[in-house]
Amino acid sequence: MGGHAVTDFSRREFLTIPAAAGLAGSAFATQGDVGWQRRIRRVGQLNMTEHDPVEMDVEAWADYWASLKVDAVLVSVTGILAFYQTKVPFHRKGKYLGTKDFFGECCAAAKKRGLHVVGRTSPDLNWEDAVQAHPEWFQRNAEGQPVAHTEDPRLFRTCMFSTYMTDYLPAIMREVNSLYDVDALFTNAWPPLGRLPDCHCGVCVHLPGPGTIEYWDRFNERTIYLWKLYDAIAKEKRQANFYFANLGGGIHSSANLVALGELCEWFQCDNQGRGGDNTPIWACASQGRVCRAVQNGKMATNVTGAWSTGPVRWRYVAKSEPEQRMWFNETVASGMVPYHHIIGAEKGLGEDRRVLGPARDFFRWTSQHDPHFRNKASVAEIGVVMGQRTNLFYQASPGMSVGDSINGLYSALLEGRFLFDFVHEEKLSRDELRKYKALILPNVALLSDRQCQQIADFVDGGGSLLATFETSMYDERNRKRSDFGLAEVFGIRRSGAIIGTNGNAYCARIEQRHELLQGFEDTDWIAGAQYRAPIASVQAPVLTVVPGSVAYPPELSYPNPSNTNEPAMVVRQKGRSRLIFVPGDVDGTLWRSGHGDLSLLLGNCVKWISGNDQPVMIDGPGLIETFAWETEPGFALHVLNYTNPAAHKGWIRDFHAIGPETIRFRVPNQRRVIRGELLRSETVLPLKIDGSTVAFTIPQVADYEVAALYCA
Ligand SMILES: [Zn+2]
Repeated sequence: MGGHAVTDFSRREFLTIPAAAGLAGSAFATQGDVGWQRRIRRVGQLNMTEHDPVEMDVEAWADYWASLKVDAVLVSVTGILAFYQTKVPFHRKGKYLGTKDFFGECCAAAKKRGLHVVGRTSPDLNWEDAVQAHPEWFQRNAEGQPVAHTEDPRLFRTCMFSTYMTDYLPAIMREVNSLYDVDALFTNAWPPLGRLPDCHCGVCVHLPGPGTIEYWDRFNERTIYLWKLYDAIAKEKRQANFYFANLGGGIHSSANLVALGELCEWFQCDNQGRGGDNTPIWACASQGRVCRAVQNGKMATNVTGAWSTGPVRWRYVAKSEPEQRMWFNETVASGMVPYHHIIGAEKGLGEDRRVLGPARDFFRWTSQHDPHFRNKASVAEIGVVMGQRTNLFYQASPGMSVGDSINGLYSALLEGRFLFDFVHEEKLSRDELRKYKALILPNVALLSDRQCQQIADFVDGGGSLLATFETSMYDERNRKRSDFGLAEVFGIRRSGAIIGTNGNAYCARIEQRHELLQGFEDTDWIAGAQYRAPIASVQAPVLTVVPGSVAYPPELSYPNPSNTNEPAMVVRQKGRSRLIFVPGDVDGTLWRSGHGDLSLLLGNCVKWISGNDQPVMIDGPGLIETFAWETEPGFALHVLNYTNPAAHKGWIRDFHAIGPETIRFRVPNQRRVIRGELLRSETVLPLKIDGSTVAFTIPQVADYEVAALYCA
């Protein structure tokens, strides 16, 4: 390896060579097709392995992607292993590369077929020789040792605060710009998605402690600085070029999504399939909601791994076809662009040909109906506030995970068949909330004074609210308040520390019959929650706390006393606003327990705060998720069928059809619907049009159906 010998390469030389390449690029910089990425409908990636330069059939590869009608392919440049004849020091060439220009061949084959090419780099890892020559590039553990990769200890983790990111990676990007006709540059594995780095290198020891909000501020500053740097480098090639990175990870994303959402031209979600043991099937659709919340409708892709994602992984064996298909369904239903991802190309295009088929069928189908997947606006009138700071910094009680609240609420919203959007906590201005009738705050514990004021203004303007547990108990710096930030809005007052469960959880006593308690006619007690943030008594409560006790022995398992005046729910009406505060973590407890009382109560609450009036009502059997969009031709209602034994665990093996589903669609914006079509079954959809309401029936949904409504 030529690169290994170069250990005396000075920083000056490092910077000058690639910069010259960059200049040469910019001298010929043309405008190009500015904004092409906003029109992307499909994307493909065969993620190249070190072995692929001698295995992959480049022409077959390019033919495959062209047959899928993709607009762009990602091709590996990398940074861990070079796929071209690089001159950048420490950019080690793969051992099967030989004298080949593998990247160049792939790039040319894609371009010949009219596909855009994104150069994929990976700045997260490098080899021991780089550690020797540039110890400052690498993360250090608390003992000062370089941090080896957990799977392949020959590789070491680079530090995002080091010059690796400002010298080494730009050198590669500029070299690629100078050699190839790329349209965009991409970094894999940076910014980090799941958790914030914990590095003790020479730079990081001077940063605020890992895991603190102060650290997060610096992390976001650095991320935005590097993002802008890489974007400027991409544009040295052509004005239309740009840089982007993986930002998926749902609401748990570590970087500030609103700041990056504004910067980024392509919101890439590395959300390839169900990961852990208990990932629900809707984890892809919920990612689409996150994108919509932070991106103002700009293009977002969801990377679907055709390989076997999950707690046990098989990188080069396909996951089940129905599971792949459902992930694609959710991608487009939630407004994202499908992205097909395969790893490795042994024997031409891989030994397991099952990775090829599902995407081919799905992509061809979407290509026949593209206008219906170009969304202008969501029809939902309910906004669910996603607390990104809460997700990163809130200290959950024992046995509770911070994501439980939004997961539990999400499941209740699906059971109740509600249309909803996610709303990011930093997007609560009057303008941004104008379209919503009601907001839901599922234990959004961290809210600034300003955000609390924005929510109060929303209520003053007639908006309704449902909030749970410790919502607004902390400010944006995670400092605990003496009382809820929204105390006045809800008319509540904190009365003590969180109360948990010792064996037997508390119940809620029905104090008065109320439409919120429909379905609970045959009981006076219903399930409470595992935890509650107790509040002071109020006038005429609807539900009060029946305290918990031990669960064993049964002799002692009774509430004592069984009557209290501690509210288990506070209900208020202020003008048009309907306000509900539930001091229990009912949403999180629903997620952990699955108790039907909690989903029924939450569903009733959501119905009530939205004035018992949904823009789309869907009656019929099954567990479904729905999206309704205003589209180019008119409107589209997407129905995803999750009625499946694998809805909460494992993979879908087969679909279980549901139907008929009868639908009443209230057409917004005085638009006039003239005809309908079912896109999946490719049949005419008979409509009953009555003023601004359209009624129709979807006879059957196997996995997914789209009712397309055309407007005059
Ligand atoms: Zn560091």
